[in-house]
Amino acid sequence: MSATKPTGADVRAKYKKYLFPSVATYYAEALALESGRGCVVSDFDGNTYLDFFGGILTVSVGHGSERVNAAVRAQIDRLGHVSTLYPTLPLATLAEKLVNLAPGDMEKAFFCSSGSEADETAVSLAQAHTGRQEVIALRHGYSGRTLLGQSLTGHASYRQSQSQVAAVKHAHAPYCYRCPFGLEYPSCELRCAHDVEELIRTTTTGQLAAIIVEPILGVGGVIAPPPGWMELVVEIVRHHGGLFICDEVQTGFGRTGTMWGVDHEGVRPDIVTMAKGIANGYPISAVVTTARVADAWRAGNISTFGGNPIACAAANETIDTIVAERLVENAANNGKVLNDGLLLLKSKYACIGDVRGRGLMQGLEIVRDEKKRDRTPAQDTTAAVFEETKRRGLLVGRGGLYGNVLRIAPPLIVTGREIDEALGILDQSFAAVSAGR
Ligand code: PMP
Repeated sequence: MSATKPTGADVRAKYKKYLFPSVATYYAEALALESGRGCVVSDFDGNTYLDFFGGILTVSVGHGSERVNAAVRAQIDRLGHVSTLYPTLPLATLAEKLVNLAPGDMEKAFFCSSGSEADETAVSLAQAHTGRQEVIALRHGYSGRTLLGQSLTGHASYRQSQSQVAAVKHAHAPYCYRCPFGLEYPSCELRCAHDVEELIRTTTTGQLAAIIVEPILGVGGVIAPPPGWMELVVEIVRHHGGLFICDEVQTGFGRTGTMWGVDHEGVRPDIVTMAKGIANGYPISAVVTTARVADAWRAGNISTFGGNPIACAAANETIDTIVAERLVENAANNGKVLNDGLLLLKSKYACIGDVRGRGLMQGLEIVRDEKKRDRTPAQDTTAAVFEETKRRGLLVGRGGLYGNVLRIAPPLIVTGREIDEALGILDQSFAAVSAGR
């Protein structure tokens, strides 16, 4: 008897039966995916979708990239795993590549398997280097699901732990659309950045280890800071002896139209964390820093899977593809096309309150009625548009503290034609939802 092909319903049923109930899935009926090529993915029932979320900004050079697949195949046949106890060529090559590519004068790299681990490593390292405990993170920020990651994260809904790391203090995010001080840029004179000084003076001992900042807060709803914010915040933190940890987990490797998110700012990090887009979906993350800072880690430091040769081979080929195929430029140019199209939608639909982001990392904040200045977060409208886009064959992401931000971030290989198609589907979806209200 030949085995019958599983259906999407079979996969969904097992997911529901065997996974922790807390594992979130998108859509009223979760979408089980079977295959992908370029910017298109297919489900088990033969439906295809334009993937404008890329496995959470991770599939940077496209699903099923021939180049990455070939590099992975070759490495699997050569050597699959040995751990960092034995130097391998893919790991050594990747370390050199990242140190040279990273923002700032970086000299040393450390590899682990997820963004959470990278952020956790960076904070521990900053604490070791400074001999201090306290760390500033941002409200609306996201750093992962480890205990420290959850403590750094600025969303109550992602905090499961009964115990939290107390040394984390949360500064206001540069969330201009919902300014925590009710001000407007530039007349605000960066009040939220200046507030970091008060945060340090009132909630810490004044002895900081570090601040951790995403150049654009991704999970928080694609919040991009106004000009000058990051420079001022980092200056304040450095004045108090803290390091600047730049979390490039989402923004790195060309996503924002420059190689690094921080390239848009006039400041260089002390430690950089990277993951997601680094290896087109293979689980690897990195922490890159100076020799002086790296020296501070004196304890033993093993990551069994960190720097796995197959993941490193994937990362090397992904980065080479990004450079050779000028995908950073594509992110800048097609990012502009995408942003222009989204702004046009905003002029059409009152529920689109804000369009923001850089390059191929864009967000739409959905509210009750921007034209009437009613910025109440509209979760229901967001959910309805989300379902409509799926129905029409477009996958986007969702985020923001209030769950009312659509996150749009296709693979960096996306074409103008695919962007037009996605904008058309968004237009139809907003029209359908607006008509039904
Ligand atoms: N930092 C940022 C900015 C992230 O967006 C994420 C994941 N969304 C993480 C850290 C944690 O990464 P991971 O899920 O790989 O642990």
